[in-house]
Amino acid sequence: MFRRIRERRNHQAAQREYEELTQTAHLVPALAEIPDFPETAPGQDAEQDFLPRDLRVPPRDKLAGLMMRWDGPLVVEGEVHACPECGAYRDWVVFLMRESIWLRCPAGHETLEPRLDAAWYNRNSGPLNSLHDTVQDGLKHLGR
Ligand SMILES: [Zn+2]
Repeated sequence: MFRRIRERRNHQAAQREYEELTQTAHLVPALAEIPDFPETAPGQDAEQDFLPRDLRVPPRDKLAGLMMRWDGPLVVEGEVHACPECGAYRDWVVFLMRESIWLRCPAGHETLEPRLDAAWYNRNSGPLNSLHDTVQDGLKHLGR
């Protein structure tokens, strides 16, 4: 694979050089007609170096928000965080919405947690593994 890319780059460099040399002389660039690798459509080369389209994940700043499960007690600044409405202290869903962290308890109460931030979220979350059009779909995916 890498050898082919290198060969192709060498070929392209040689071809450019050749074309520059031949442009002024109005010669037919014969090198371009040597079929030493399969023809590809313009732009296709770059595409092939990436994951298939349906496996790609958009950059985080293009997403409305991120969410993850947090099954154990959530300790914020040395204290176990409890839901202010029902007192639940575990089985959270943690949302990162822009720069804000929201916590959702098992009963569905959602509260802003200003002591946590995007950096905390990024330190504690794994890689993105799914995308959802709605929060409800995301919650279902998380088993909530
Ligand atoms: Zn609650």
